[in-house]
Formats: sequence, structure tokens, C-alpha cells
Amino acid sequence: MPRIRIVYDRCKGCLNCVEVCNAPEKVYVVEDGRPVPRHPENCIECLQCAFLCPAQAIVFEDVYLSRIVLYEKDYVKIFDRMY
Ligand code: SF4
Ligand code: SF4
Repeated sequence: MPRIRIVYDRCKGCLNCVEVCNAPEKVYVVEDGRPVPRHPENCIECLQCAFLCPAQAIVFEDVYLSRIVLYEKDYVKIFDRMY
């Protein structure tokens, strides 16, 4: 199960992340107009929400991103911005 953290100082409240989520069961809920990853156990780790976030406000805090870093150069940039 990934650890998903939203950096609310950066979040613009666009809710792209909620709309694009590919998980069969809901990961995000909307509270006060902001996404909250209440059900990370449902996440399939596609990273679509992080890639489509216009504010780089979604951080996956586990080894999954490290695996991605090995695959694609562009993902390294995202990784660097996230941290
Ligand atoms: S996509 Fe990014 S900026 Fe938009 S609501 Fe989600 S975390 Fe916030
Ligand atoms: S990584 Fe994919 S499945 Fe997980 S919360 Fe983001 S969009 Fe949904």
C-alpha cells in the first residue's frame, strides 16, 4: 500500500487527482474542496494523479517511486520536485 501525501501548501484544489484516479475503489475523498487520500489501500500505484497534478502536490513516500526513477528520466524530474 503506498503512502500518499498531499502537500496542501501547493495544492490548487483543481481535483484533477480525484477525477483521473484509476483505482476500482475510491482512494480520494473531497473534504473542504481538497483531496484527501483516505483509502490508500485501494491505490493501484499507476501514479496518474501525481503526473497530472499541475502543482506537483502529490507525493508517494515509498519505494515505488524509486523503482520508477530507474525506468524513465522524466520521472526523475518529478521525483526531484516532489521531494
Ligand atoms: S491535482 Fe494536485 S493541485 Fe489539483 S487537487 Fe489534486 S493535489 Fe491539488
Ligand atoms: S496512483 Fe493511481 S490509483 Fe493511486 S491514487 Fe493515484 S491515480 Fe489513483
